[in-house]
Amino acid sequence: MRILATDLDRTLLPNGRWSPDLGAIDLFNELTKKHDVLVVYVTGRNLKLTENAIREYRIRYPHVLIGDVGTSIRKYEQGCWKLHGSWDKHLKKTSPRWDAGAVRSAVAAVGGLTEQESEHCGPFKQSYYVDHDRSKAVLKAVDERVKGKFDEVIVYSFDSQSGKGLLDFLPQSATKQTALEFIVEELSAKQSDVVFCGDSGNDVLPLTAGFSGVLVRNADDQLVASVKQAVDVHPELKVYFAKGGFKGLNGFYTSGVIEGAYYYGIFCDAD
Ligand SMILES: [Mg+2]
Repeated sequence: MRILATDLDRTLLPNGRWSPDLGAIDLFNELTKKHDVLVVYVTGRNLKLTENAIREYRIRYPHVLIGDVGTSIRKYEQGCWKLHGSWDKHLKKTSPRWDAGAVRSAVAAVGGLTEQESEHCGPFKQSYYVDHDRSKAVLKAVDERVKGKFDEVIVYSFDSQSGKGLLDFLPQSATKQTALEFIVEELSAKQSDVVFCGDSGNDVLPLTAGFSGVLVRNADDQLVASVKQAVDVHPELKVYFAKGGFKGLNGFYTSGVIEGAYYYGIFCDAD
């Protein structure tokens, strides 16, 4: 089974400051269908914003949508989204101390944090915008109040498009990584047979978890450094850095995803 999992914003979607290759999305759509690839989108977007992206950029529908940074899983079958109910049950069981309301109270007095709009928060996701210039102090204050108390994981990433820092509190068992692992296990696939592509901070977990990782060429410096550091400690990790110049593609966004998929043999011109 060929499984291609990818982040959306600035990984599959060309919505950053680099110029995309025209036709790269059509090529991605065509190649995934031609090679019968199981496509998983792994994104911070909720369902509505994912559908907006599918319409706006004309990316194909995935087979599976891991949304809200791993806190929701949906399957797309016969033209309909179906929520994966057992994922919610699994989260409650595996992160028993998780409580979004309690996390909210714990960080209420931290300056430099602005709670994100209600559509970006949910029972398993408490999210904030962070004043990026103050991020070091903010993250330190957050750690002191939250770390280790709520079976949580604290994920910080920088949105180069908006210039904002994004901070997510999630149950430890609900990240892009664990949600993808859950799906891979359900499909009885091997972790290393799954290609995962990403570009920024919240992709670091799946990129260093034993999947076949791809960083698109526009991946941010912070992510590149973290992944290289992880590879130094765990040389068995498989990571590919898209560089462009492959099949006339530039390696940014969708083109980097295609380059990485060829590198790992998910796409292959011989078949
Ligand atoms: Mg991204």
